[in-house]
Amino acid sequence: MLLDSFGRRAVDLRVSLTDRCNLRCGYCMPAEGLPWLPKAELLTDAELVRLMDLAVTALGVREIRFTGGEPLLRPGLAGLVAACAALTPRPELSLTTNGLGLARLAAPLREAGLDRVNVSLDTLDPVVFHRLTRRDRHADVLAGLAAAETAGLRPVKLNAVLMRGVNEGEAAGLLEWCLERGYELRFIEQMPLDAQRGWDREAMVSAEEIHAMLAQRFTLTPEPRGARGSAPAERWLVDGGPARVGIIASVTRPFCRACDRTRLTADGQVRDCLFASEETDLRGALRAGADDAELAALWRTAMWGKKAAAGIGEPSFAQPSRPMSSIGG
Ligand code: SAM
Ligand code: SF4
Repeated sequence: MLLDSFGRRAVDLRVSLTDRCNLRCGYCMPAEGLPWLPKAELLTDAELVRLMDLAVTALGVREIRFTGGEPLLRPGLAGLVAACAALTPRPELSLTTNGLGLARLAAPLREAGLDRVNVSLDTLDPVVFHRLTRRDRHADVLAGLAAAETAGLRPVKLNAVLMRGVNEGEAAGLLEWCLERGYELRFIEQMPLDAQRGWDREAMVSAEEIHAMLAQRFTLTPEPRGARGSAPAERWLVDGGPARVGIIASVTRPFCRACDRTRLTADGQVRDCLFASEETDLRGALRAGADDAELAALWRTAMWGKKAAAGIGEPSFAQPSRPMSSIGG
């Protein structure tokens, strides 16, 4: 098992498949992109499968979420999903994506064994979408969402980040749009993980503000205590339910105490937290010939040292040297 010294057990593995992306969301990447990881440093498919196999069969991981960068840009993604679906015990398999290319890939990914998707969409307005992502691809995301629903990747979940002065007024509109389509919406507070280090606590649209904006149009009832489990989102029933909306208050009400995550970057580094300052190099060990027992021991040691909390906003907090797109969001 992957335990830490505060008694938490990591069962949810986030795997970044690439640090590259075809959008340039301002809260994540600069307009010019980033110096991408060299191909030789990326885990190969075979290396990835070996580590995911180890995580599931020896370390107690029960859920694998593929992310990035943009995971749909990884060649051979369906094959990776199929390899994970063949593991015993079979893990839950999900994907976080910006939705570009999902119109084409939703059905083959479902067939390969993918269970669910989270699609990131911050606005219903194509002009605002261009302002946020610097690309004119709004229609592609909508097509991807529809294809995910048709392919049975349900419930389709949406992630939205609100940026002050750009899309902050869209909270209630986005929720209404999702309710009409049966999508489950979650807002995420903007975190200090952008490569250009432009995050500003004062400018961030807080969970409390988001809740207040939603409450002007909807009746929100907190989900019963305990329903949240280790999920980062606080959730509310909308107008009596069963529809729900979530808000991930990563900054103002962090959920570190219930965190059950471990992370693997595209270049084979284990991280115990999005905000970790240290990583453990599994790729180096693997390429030096480490056996499964040695790799498992490295992974266990990496997780044991996990801090009690990320501490965003505390004087000692330092933004990690890698941006979100390279860690895997
Ligand atoms: N490219 C995929 C996508 O956008 O869904 C997967 C990777 S992305 C880093 C994962 C999630 O992180 C997205 O929902 C995105 O909106 C969110 N995200 C990126 N930068 C963020 C930030 N600075 N604060 C909060 N969420 C962020
Ligand atoms: Fe790309 Fe996702 Fe970052 Fe946007 S949030 S730039 S889609 S990795």
